[in-house]
Amino acid sequence: MMGNTERMGNTESIKLDEKITALRALLAKIECTYTANAPAAFASSFGAEDMVLLDAIARHANGISVFTLDTGRLPSETPDLIHRAQAKYGIVVTAFTPDQAAVEGYVERNGINGFYESVENRKSCCHIRKVEPLARALAGKGAWLTGLRREQAPSRADLGESEFDSTHQLTKFNPLFDWTNEDVWAYIRANDVPYNALHDRGYPSIGCEPCTRAVKPGEDARAGRWWWESKADQKECGLHVAKTAGPARSADFSAIVKYQKYPSTPTKMVNVEAKV
Ligand code: SF4
Repeated sequence: MMGNTERMGNTESIKLDEKITALRALLAKIECTYTANAPAAFASSFGAEDMVLLDAIARHANGISVFTLDTGRLPSETPDLIHRAQAKYGIVVTAFTPDQAAVEGYVERNGINGFYESVENRKSCCHIRKVEPLARALAGKGAWLTGLRREQAPSRADLGESEFDSTHQLTKFNPLFDWTNEDVWAYIRANDVPYNALHDRGYPSIGCEPCTRAVKPGEDARAGRWWWESKADQKECGLHVAKTAGPARSADFSAIVKYQKYPSTPTKMVNVEAKV
């Protein structure tokens, strides 16, 4: 691997190298701990940080499965990236799509873009297109991983490396919780990681096409998400709520696993392109 010192100062690069070492160690522990009966799964939206995690998983912990939520409203650049990532890494990405009847009911009641009308309407759309498919994606899993970082939003400021997700009754790992935006991009450049073309057009954070826009210089990274809503702490889609903080670092891994509740029924890994 190319060193990570080229584009950063020496102090920052040493810190990043330490973070990369910690990341690989954590992924190896997760891969070993959560095996066939209740595997760990990475929920990827294919944003920049998710590409860092995908690269590390594909190269160092490919026993961790990868899934995405295909909401039906993604910008074309996102499936294009998924295609490029699959070609580069040879990975299987399982796509979970919304319940069609629920989408049809929502559109009938609220209109195709009814999410602009109120926060309630927007959260209802996110629930149908993201939250419910996520619950299906996590059924039978032993743990899940995200690319969340503290820096991304005020609502993520107290994020830890792991937490107990009481909604899904699973341990949730946030291996990049303390990575900076500079860390993410230094890793991407040093390792030639593919990324979404929209990042080069002013989109630091990418979600559904009608709910994401480019940000202006100096604006918050998530200012382009649900930009018509004013409260920054409301800018979550419902995927990342209900938590109990776990130990801060992977040195405490046994304590993390202790609160893991394993499902009683063995789960078969499904390698298909889309699940509805
Ligand atoms: S981000 Fe927008 S289009 Fe996507 S699920 Fe949420 S409200 Fe619906």
